[in-house]
Amino acid sequence: MKEKISKTEAKEKIKEFFDKIKSKSPKEVLKIKKLSMKNRIPLGINKKLFCSDCFEPYLGNEKIRITKGFKTVTCEKCGKVKKIKL
Ligand SMILES: [Zn+2]
Repeated sequence: MKEKISKTEAKEKIKEFFDKIKSKSPKEVLKIKKLSMKNRIPLGINKKLFCSDCFEPYLGNEKIRITKGFKTVTCEKCGKVKKIKL
């Protein structure tokens, strides 16, 4: 059995994780996402920092286009296009 962590601890863990997201693997991103869902902690703006499909962290070299109030980011790995409202 895994030990249960409190919501505050989970929040702290998530915050620390996103501070260093660029050095993380998709597997770790998925783990943190699950942790946030389990503890009902919204990822908010941090959701923009990784691909929602393959969970690859965005490193800053993906294609970014800005059109009509939307920013679209194309994932380098799986090609998934993410639309972010500006
Ligand atoms: Zn992707």
